[in-house]
Amino acid sequence: MEYLIALDDGHGMSTAGKRTPYISSLNRFIKENEFNRKVVNNLEEELNRSGLKTVLVAPGDEDTPLSTRVSRANQAKADAYISVHYNAYDGSFSSPAPSGIELFVYPGHLNREAGRLAESIGNHLKKGTSQHYRGIKEADFQVLRTTSMPAVLTENGFMDNLDEALYMIKPEFQKEVAREHAQGICDFFRVPYVSDSAKRKPSYVGRRVESIYDGRLRFYHHPSWSDRSLAGYLEKGYGFPVILSKLSVDGYFQYEVENSKGARYYVTASNKYVRVVN
Ligand SMILES: [Zn+2]
Repeated sequence: MEYLIALDDGHGMSTAGKRTPYISSLNRFIKENEFNRKVVNNLEEELNRSGLKTVLVAPGDEDTPLSTRVSRANQAKADAYISVHYNAYDGSFSSPAPSGIELFVYPGHLNREAGRLAESIGNHLKKGTSQHYRGIKEADFQVLRTTSMPAVLTENGFMDNLDEALYMIKPEFQKEVAREHAQGICDFFRVPYVSDSAKRKPSYVGRRVESIYDGRLRFYHHPSWSDRSLAGYLEKGYGFPVILSKLSVDGYFQYEVENSKGARYYVTASNKYVRVVN
């Protein structure tokens, strides 16, 4: 089963009032959408990497009406709706503002699917971020009320708490919040979460391999060590321009390689016989 997740970045880039108080050390305000947008974009990447599909219900900079956001998700028959926000208390740094992360579901849904989805995301945020965890709450927000799938709205810090306001534009924080949302969503749908590093290409892929063996080194038509699959021999210093992958053949590794004409062969990956160059 392929799941579709609707992602909502909260507000438009210039929605009135949705910004921090003036931050003198930066000489500017931070707009709430600067954070929400980055997290949603990172979250989309995380979810797609893990095999979940996504629909952005408010792409672009304009202030997409809430009803449009919801109807896009409903029409797409998304399996979950995630709305990413940053909280506000009184809009000023001068009074002591609360801090921390809280998640919202529609009233009465704490023990239903939305509540379980929120808990799943909350567990990762609680373990991950250094912030105070304020828990899961109920609220009659339009995007929670009118969506036809489990919907969760997350408030990932307070814009009028100066420390947390500065987190909003930290790329590591944006990535962490996205990653923990993705882990929670994957847990909820029982889909294995695929991390960025797990997906990164091994260092040998795309590089040249050549023989360092003082003799004639066998290479093969198939992933095999048998005489029947023998394709030819490499002299020392000769090799193949592109390694495609590495595979285990009867307990020993071979590189799958390509020659300059695009023909595919197999050669030992043992560093006693070959080296990877450039
Ligand atoms: Zn917001």
